[in-house]
Amino acid sequence: MFYCTKVEKERCISCGACYAILPEVFDFDDDGLAENKTDQNMATLPLEPELVDLLLEAAHDCPTSAILIIKEKEAV
Ligand code: SF4
Repeated sequence: MFYCTKVEKERCISCGACYAILPEVFDFDDDGLAENKTDQNMATLPLEPELVDLLLEAAHDCPTSAILIIKEKEAV
């Protein structure tokens, strides 16, 4: 199973939790909203397997449920 992710920016309140948990993936755009910096927030690049648990934690801890996770059976 491969996991891709993106931030629904319209729901992001810039709290920084996702960046604190997974700075390898999340960063902030010029408007201060979180995004997946690894694939221009397109949810097309599968995460490294060792980062998946942190991704799930970040999605769980996001106060506005802004982090989307897309599961794929094979890499895209
Ligand atoms: Fe935005 Fe959620 Fe990340 Fe907070 S945890 S910065 S609300 S995406």
